[in-house]
Amino acid sequence: MDIRFEEVGYTYQKGTPFQSRALHDIDLTIEAGSFTALVGHTGSGKSTVLQHLNALKKPTSGQVTIGDRVITHFSEDKGLKTLRKKVGIVFQFPEAQLFEETVAKDIAFGPKNFGVSEEEGLAKAKELLPLVGLDESFMERSPFDLSGGQMRRVAIAGVLAMEPEVLVLDEPTAGLDPQGRKEVMDMFYNLYQEQGLTVVLVTHQMDDVATYANHMIVLEKGTVMKEGHPRELFKEAGWLSSMQLGVPSTVRFAHELEEKFQWHFDPLPLTTDELAEQMQVKLSAGEGDAL
Ligand code: ADP
Ligand code: MG
Repeated sequence: MDIRFEEVGYTYQKGTPFQSRALHDIDLTIEAGSFTALVGHTGSGKSTVLQHLNALKKPTSGQVTIGDRVITHFSEDKGLKTLRKKVGIVFQFPEAQLFEETVAKDIAFGPKNFGVSEEEGLAKAKELLPLVGLDESFMERSPFDLSGGQMRRVAIAGVLAMEPEVLVLDEPTAGLDPQGRKEVMDMFYNLYQEQGLTVVLVTHQMDDVATYANHMIVLEKGTVMKEGHPRELFKEAGWLSSMQLGVPSTVRFAHELEEKFQWHFDPLPLTTDELAEQMQVKLSAGEGDAL
């Protein structure tokens, strides 16, 4: 299921003295099966864009096409529930949304809302726990006795329980230590590869964009500043540093080597494996004598 924005504008509190325009004529496409990273400074409109992906918000102007459903300012709410099942959003700090007395019930809450039996819902929870890196022993525990990272995994399992086609993640690793960050990102990447989910990820971590994404959208002040493959976008280091968005560490290192030894990396390495592989070729060809 593709999601397409055409000239999407969004204004908060329109018609009041407090109105503020968050999105200006946005065009973008999230292709089925892609892993899209949405980046930009705080206030650039990332979370507002996300809320349009499952019609939690309707555009003030323009239109959003989600699969075969077109959403405009004037769209009725009919059928939106089905849409929200297909596009699951994990909001920032999702652990704040846990409320049931056991982990299993919390995960089963969404499916139950869609008429799935308690029994089936709990079976689903049992099946999902290992997928988010928790074992069965968590089923009967209270979500409030868990660590922050564990609570977040339970919240993510709750969204996965709806069997979405598109998984939308708003800064899912914010506040986690590097190890926790890697675990959570690897988990999403496995879901992307093994379950064929389309993923949309909001992040400030350019290393994660380089490692996982195959499509990148840069927002700035409510407009799309760049859109393309991370490899293309990271090639031009100038705009990245001028925007202070940060450069992936592999890219920074590759650029340093290019400058120092007049090397040329082609294609630009995005992961440490890609970098190591190309370095090995260059070194064994005697290009690195100065090293
Ligand atoms: P990001 O997720 O990139 O930080 P947001 O989508 O949250 O950006 O915000 C985009 C713009 O909309 C910002 O200028 C922000 O102040 C404004 N905004 C966000 N939420 C509201 C709201 N509920 N009411 C008014 N303005 C808002
Ligand atoms: Mg945000």
